[in-house]
Amino acid sequence: MNPQSTSRTPLLSVKNLRKHFPVKAQQLGGPRLMVQAVDGVDFDIEQGQTLGIVGESGCGKSTTARLLMHLIIPDTGEIALNGRPVMRPDGIELRELRRQMQMVFQDSYASLNPRLTVVDSIAFGPRAHGADREKARGRARELLSLVKLDPDQFGPRYPHQLSGGQRQRVNFARALALEPRLVILDEAVSALDKSIEAQVLNLLMDLKRDLALTYLFISHDLNVVQYVSDHVLVMYLGKVMEYGSVDDIYHRPRHPYTQALLASRPSMDPDVKLEASPLVGDPPNPINPPSGCRFRTRCAYAEGVCEKTEPRLHALRAKGHAVACHMSISGSGHSKA
Ligand code: SF4
Repeated sequence: MNPQSTSRTPLLSVKNLRKHFPVKAQQLGGPRLMVQAVDGVDFDIEQGQTLGIVGESGCGKSTTARLLMHLIIPDTGEIALNGRPVMRPDGIELRELRRQMQMVFQDSYASLNPRLTVVDSIAFGPRAHGADREKARGRARELLSLVKLDPDQFGPRYPHQLSGGQRQRVNFARALALEPRLVILDEAVSALDKSIEAQVLNLLMDLKRDLALTYLFISHDLNVVQYVSDHVLVMYLGKVMEYGSVDDIYHRPRHPYTQALLASRPSMDPDVKLEASPLVGDPPNPINPPSGCRFRTRCAYAEGVCEKTEPRLHALRAKGHAVACHMSISGSGHSKA
């Protein structure tokens, strides 16, 4: 199911997205093993909203981002941007998709060509799309101002002459150079010092408001996701465990995994009392995930039905809040349903 379907056409709609990666068999002629990186993920993002995706490393959140950009080709699934399906004869072409949808990665240095100055790096995209050199460089200087870097001071520099925070601002400027509608931020502030991270997050919020942008914000940091997001998708071993408004997820979490994730985050407030047990252990091997509910091997409420039957993402009464847990599905056979 798509957990937040509305009558309006969402900017981005994703249905049943799936990607399994083959891994080398341990012995010749042995069974073909697959890592189930993303396994049937559905979501929509409305124009002007920020969807946060959280989960431990290996949950499939970064693979999901790469599938959306078609940096990796999905096994199955439908992706539509503003109602136009991707890679269909009647749909949006890949080149146009990548203009309207830009991505910023965690490693600010690897994303920039070390031999290009900052201004030429930012001008590269518009040049590739046909803008003449001077026009593209002029636009690059405007974008530098937009990300609060002085074009005269920073435009002629090379990436190694910038701090991590300045490089990431240049990456935002590059991402904005083709006037995208959706920006995917994949752990884009995770490598920055906390004080710089706060400044960059505020910049992102200002850009979103001023340029009417839509964000997909991927992070393992629950505090940051709470700060920037309107809605949140919680992933575990390639599956969606819970979806809801930021208020639902952070104040009324229903999935034991979401509750445990929230209980595991550090809090500076001594009055905050943990209601759920924090997460213990590591996620199981994604090559051979547990049957039924993938979280059952770490869940304090697991019962027989959790091993036998996979819980589907199930809409709750609160509009737009959906959970994949047998305890939230009446008649599922779980004693707490
Ligand atoms: Fe726990 Fe069962 Fe719910 Fe999975 S379905 S989260 S194992 S109670």
